[in-house]
Amino acid sequence: MPRTSPHSAVDGPLRGVFRRGNAGDAGGKQWRRRLSDMTLSDTVRTDPVPAGAAVADRAPVGASRPGPAPGSGATRVLVVGGGMAAARLVHQLAAAVGTAGPGSLTVTVLAEEPHPPYNRVLLAEVLAGRYPPQVIALPAPAAGVRWCGGVRAVRVDRVARRVRCADGREFGYDVLVLATGANPVLPPLRGLFAPGGRELPDGVHPFRTLDDCAALAAAVRPGLPTVVVGGGLLGVSAARALAACGARVLLAHQGTHLMERHIDAEAGALLRDHLTARGVEVHAECRVRGVLTRPTSGAAGPAGRRVHGVELADGHRLDADLTVLACGVRPRTGLARDAGLDVGAGIRVDGALRTSDPRIHAVGDCAEHHGTVYGLAGAAQEQADALARVLTGPRPATPAYTGTRALTRLTLAGRDALDLAAFGETAPRPGDDVVRLADATRGTYRKVVVRGDRLVGGVLVGALGSVGTLARAWEDAEPLPADDGPLLHLLTHDGGS
Ligand SMILES: Cc1cc2nc3c(=O)[nH]c(=O)nc-3n(C[C@H](O)[C@H](O)[C@H](O)COP(=O)(O)OP(=O)(O)OC[C@H]3O[C@@H](n4cnc5c(N)ncnc54)[C@H](O)[C@@H]3O)c2cc1C
Repeated sequence: MPRTSPHSAVDGPLRGVFRRGNAGDAGGKQWRRRLSDMTLSDTVRTDPVPAGAAVADRAPVGASRPGPAPGSGATRVLVVGGGMAAARLVHQLAAAVGTAGPGSLTVTVLAEEPHPPYNRVLLAEVLAGRYPPQVIALPAPAAGVRWCGGVRAVRVDRVARRVRCADGREFGYDVLVLATGANPVLPPLRGLFAPGGRELPDGVHPFRTLDDCAALAAAVRPGLPTVVVGGGLLGVSAARALAACGARVLLAHQGTHLMERHIDAEAGALLRDHLTARGVEVHAECRVRGVLTRPTSGAAGPAGRRVHGVELADGHRLDADLTVLACGVRPRTGLARDAGLDVGAGIRVDGALRTSDPRIHAVGDCAEHHGTVYGLAGAAQEQADALARVLTGPRPATPAYTGTRALTRLTLAGRDALDLAAFGETAPRPGDDVVRLADATRGTYRKVVVRGDRLVGGVLVGALGSVGTLARAWEDAEPLPADDGPLLHLLTHDGGS
């Protein structure tokens, strides 16, 4: 039987921060230096099971559906990926872990990141120095869940039902869950990689993990010329956070307006004004085509080069001692693809979150359901909840997931915070009705799109009092009242958020 790893929320790096006695300096820079100073030995909470002792029992071969581990009476659930979807899933499975009899589970998580699970959505707040990292910790895995931090799965053997890890260990499973999330997209910029090299130049950073956040926090300083490439949700959050740290930030966005996948041009203009007032220079329709680097000497990073600028498509060059790549994400599907699973943009799953191998499930940013890869925390959470129902409910599993009606919400916190929410189709089709309320003085904007008698989408900036009511009306897809009065009431109603 695998041993259990009771795991407290303040273990690992977050505990390191507490131990150093700085829980009180939430707003300051001190913790940032400490976080970035930490070495791996400070931060890794090592799995208590000795290397080599972790090969789980072989599952019954040829069983038509998940079966118990020999001798344990429990189904072995192995989860690859220790992000938001995995944390939510094991939280939901907690009640079934270690109980005796049918339905009992043993749960093991293989998590590449050494940290205990955390809320990735709040990384920009950590970067801005608004929260210390321990504040974004997710609830600790339940006692009985074995959480192996700093362990990367490298191969799935579907015949033997085993997963091999980079450190040579192997874990058996009856049910395997892939929750491998997504990787930042590294755009094809000239000079980003040296010929044959794979290292980013010093000063060029993605923004996906707590380690990325720590590296950025260590690099940023007041007045530092900084370019953020990409004006989506991630780039906007990063730019605002870096400006709050005092950096001189330019946000270069290829599209016509900020966050164009989620909001319309009017809302984008308000967002731009908000960023501009906080010291971010926003350039739309501005394509970065290369990074400019020079060789480093002495205590250089592994790339041996450091960024000092970026080159735009029109030939202009901008100073950039710090460059953040916020150009979207790509589902991490390599493990699934190599195992021969059906993979499109993501790992294809059905309504029971099952991949093309019924013993293997996928949830979160790595999963593709009915042609959609959501890339949003809300969808990852709903999928994890649905899978927990599948794994603990009666068999054969009934479809538990029908898709997520994803509401995008962004809060740019701090002084003069800006709240923004968008859902559904925000661009009207011919024949749709559009109701808009804009208040230039207050910098607020509300818009809903109605098709026939249904609400099909909306954008709210700065005034989110009605977001709860609107989102419910959209989610329920129920007919709206026939006259305009109630619709306006819906837009201005203030009690539902
Ligand atoms: C800065 C930032 C802001 C965001 N803001 C929002 C927002 O406002 N709203 C919103 O809805 N979404 C937001 N998101 C997206 C949201 O964080 C993701 O949708 C969510 O984290 C998805 O959860 P996940 O578990 O699928 O993936 P992740 O949280 O990425 O977790 C996947 C984990 O699996 C690990 N892993 C991968 N491969 C392996 C392997 N082979 N072995 C072991 N471990 C492995 C990874 O290291 C990672 O820790 C934001 C993301 C970022 C980075």
